[in-house]
Amino acid sequence: MSLKKLTLPDNVCIAEYVWLDGFYKLRSKARTLDEVPTSAEDLPEWNYDGSSTGQAPGTDSEVILRPQAIYKDPFRGAPHILVMCDTYNPQGLPLETNQRHDCAIVMQKAKDLLPWFGCEQEYFLIDKATGRPLGFPAEGYPLPQGPYYCGAGAGKIFGRDVAEEHYIACLYAGIKMSGINAEVAPGQWEFQIGPAVGMEEGDMMWMARYILDRVTENYNMTISYDAKPEKGDWNGSGAHTNFSTQPMRDEGGYEGAIIPALERLALKHKEHIAAYGEGNEHRLTGTHETSSMDKFSYAKADRGASVRIPNTTYASGKGYFEDRRPSASMDPYVVTKLLVSTCCDIPLPTTKFSETRAEH
Ligand code: ADP
Ligand code: MN
Ligand code: MN
Ligand code: MN
Repeated sequence: MSLKKLTLPDNVCIAEYVWLDGFYKLRSKARTLDEVPTSAEDLPEWNYDGSSTGQAPGTDSEVILRPQAIYKDPFRGAPHILVMCDTYNPQGLPLETNQRHDCAIVMQKAKDLLPWFGCEQEYFLIDKATGRPLGFPAEGYPLPQGPYYCGAGAGKIFGRDVAEEHYIACLYAGIKMSGINAEVAPGQWEFQIGPAVGMEEGDMMWMARYILDRVTENYNMTISYDAKPEKGDWNGSGAHTNFSTQPMRDEGGYEGAIIPALERLALKHKEHIAAYGEGNEHRLTGTHETSSMDKFSYAKADRGASVRIPNTTYASGKGYFEDRRPSASMDPYVVTKLLVSTCCDIPLPTTKFSETRAEH
């Protein structure tokens, strides 16, 4: 778009406010600011019509947006910004899809433990023309899994332009994207966000998902976070979450902090599975590098366990662990909140959420 080359007056900054709708999908709208903000606190609250996003009845439709984190806008370029917001009703109660609210309370209580996260977001690129993953024919199947994972070359890689554009856009934005890789099934990719501290993880994960939506607009593709979009001998999509606290990273952390955390996770397995995203019953089958959904297990370097302890952590007696249970559609605010609450023994808040229901 050639208009992009035009230079705007110095004091003009466009802020794209991004938020979660009533279906855990991302929405956004832009406003013009007359100065360039340096933090989310500099930004005004805003609002939108919740009756159009599945979040409010038409008779009382205003939803309040509170700016929480800002990033550089890779689409408009400097000095424009993307703003991650959370949502409240006019009385100040968080909406039901605003899981950020409780996550922030738990992270505040845990701040001295310096919780680090690294989520590995797997996803499929879906070809809009066929409705199937990129690389799958309209009918029938591609060659079996084997050559696709971290592959190179035509017939093995589908959609690298998208994955690559997304990577560069996120890094430009200031998101801590630690890497990307082609995954086991055709058209399946992964990006990782981390190590990120406390609230950074959820905010950066959601903003990275938003940027991916925006990038694919130009490619006639959509994103699927379905835990198992193709039934049969095809890998599903997860969102492994790597986690550590300062005591886990310190000398002796494996015995002193990681093992006790895993013992606490074993006791709360059901609660975690229930909150770890949709469709895990199709994904956590014990095959395709997954654990069984019914039983909690942990093991060194084992991709068939609920939690994997990396070899380096085991060998050095300190480090982090990988919770392999979250499915691709998980809400990172929920997963990071629960990991900290369970592993660090911090009680979950008892927040009252807005009961406003959408009209049907
Ligand atoms: P895998 O070997 O399971 O594919 P990845 O390399 O895809 O793992 O992802 C690992 C993630 O864990 C990265 O985002 C990385 O930044 C993050 N990570 C590394 N060290 C730590 C740590 N000490 N605590 C939490 N996360 C970490
Ligand atoms: Mn990975
Ligand atoms: Mn993976
Ligand atoms: Mn992993």
